[in-house]
Amino acid sequence: MSEKVKILINGAFIESKATEHLPVENPANREVLAEVPLTLLSEIDEAIEFATEAFKTWKEYTIPERARLFLSYQHLLKQHQKEIAEILSKENGKTFADAMGDVWRGIEVVEHACNIPTLMMGETVENVARAVDTYSYIQPLGVCVGITPFNFPAMIPLWMFPMAIACGNTFILKPSEQTPMTAIKLAELFIEAGFPKGVLNVVHGSKDQVNHILNHSEIRAISFVGSVPVAEHVYRTGTHNLKRVQAFGGAKNHMVVMPDANKQQVINNLVGASCGAAGQRCMAISVAVLVGEAQNWVEEIKSALGTIKPGVWSDESAAYGPLINQQSKEKVLRLIKSGYEQGAEVLLDGSNCTVEGYENGYFVGPTLFSNVSADMDIYKEEIFGPALLLMKADTLDEAIKIINNNPYGNGTSIFTNSGAAARKFQHEIEVGQIGINIPIPVPLPFFSFTGWRKSFFGDLHSYGKQGVRFYTETKTITARWFEEDVPGGNVNMTIAL
Ligand code: NAD
Repeated sequence: MSEKVKILINGAFIESKATEHLPVENPANREVLAEVPLTLLSEIDEAIEFATEAFKTWKEYTIPERARLFLSYQHLLKQHQKEIAEILSKENGKTFADAMGDVWRGIEVVEHACNIPTLMMGETVENVARAVDTYSYIQPLGVCVGITPFNFPAMIPLWMFPMAIACGNTFILKPSEQTPMTAIKLAELFIEAGFPKGVLNVVHGSKDQVNHILNHSEIRAISFVGSVPVAEHVYRTGTHNLKRVQAFGGAKNHMVVMPDANKQQVINNLVGASCGAAGQRCMAISVAVLVGEAQNWVEEIKSALGTIKPGVWSDESAAYGPLINQQSKEKVLRLIKSGYEQGAEVLLDGSNCTVEGYENGYFVGPTLFSNVSADMDIYKEEIFGPALLLMKADTLDEAIKIINNNPYGNGTSIFTNSGAAARKFQHEIEVGQIGINIPIPVPLPFFSFTGWRKSFFGDLHSYGKQGVRFYTETKTITARWFEEDVPGGNVNMTIAL
């Protein structure tokens, strides 16, 4: 009997009474690490009730008290970073070094949450009319929810609950059923930091649990990160139920390679950005658009990509780990096959990759396609595997057109030595996050994570100032204090004199 992953309700880590469980697998060898419960809907209701009750007192904590608790949490996360990274590597498969980065990028959001006193500042204008002042406060909403994907088991939950809770809300986290153990470790440290019970609750499950949450009347705001079809579903259902929703979906990220770029930098960055984390990053570069003379660099890109190898998380020489599950591997293999059938040139094919001692792991070797066109399935679908597509463009204008015609708008980058080319690119491209000689431009938490088009449904993005706006309501006060009695009333609209 494998361990059952606990749920967190009202400060207590308990075993769910669920009768159905899913295995949590180590994707490198299919070992069942634990079983995750499909939490009973009645248990979810209970968690929401406790979160509703906890909100009444949590919102009254002073802002410095909240900030201080987050300082303790940040300290604990740093102390336990390696332990969290190990749990994360085992259930997700990514290398230990990459898992350390996953946790670190989450810790940075917690650091941002420690700045909550300044982030919560409202606005004031004196004398909007004679002796009248207007000022605004921002106040928390109530119970908020986070629904997260498998590919960043630490960072993405930490995009959400620290910001929401620092603003004074309480929270229900529903992590990916494929990586629930990292979330529970984050929650254990949260409780250890001293936060009151009921402020953060964690429930597990899949479609039914998510749908129940989306329809619950007490939920005020929903943060979602995952695939496009589910992001659309969460956005439509949540907004239909009159809730605030931010839903981040999938991506197809392009790197434009100009002929004046530093060739070695381009090649080094392309290898890591396409195959790092087995290509299972929403900001992975999956398409390189080679402009003009840069089209002659294909052989060098191929030899660089051909030298890296996947392996198990604890192998320091492994460039990346396995895919998350059998279904993902089948999807990647299907798309590689379609690449052959639809006329792409397959320069590297990772379909038959095995790792010694881990023969049943979900490994795929680095894969490279050239002569790719926009009508191929490998281009239209998010592969989410260690695969890079090479496309050609004669000019920067043509490269920009290719990217703007793609439905996704999460991230993109340009490698060039020309300021004019970079300026044109950043201005004309219809993508939310742009790197100039930076392959994966994920903004630090004092900015926001700003995907566009099919990569994001909603208006206020994650963390940064937008995250604070998403988790709060603005209250505007207009005040006048009388120094003496003023006779009579006024039935007309006042003219501000
Ligand atoms: P997923 O959509 O399968 O799952 C995400 C969450 O939704 C999980 O918690 C899951 O339990 C739940 N879910 C799954 N199916 C559901 C359904 N039918 N109804 C309701 N809930 C459902 O995504 P995943 O495979 O875990 O993650 C990979 C995807 O996430 C990729 O497409 C990737 O690009 C995307 N992603 C996007 C970003 C971003 O910031 N834009 C970041 C990370 C990952």
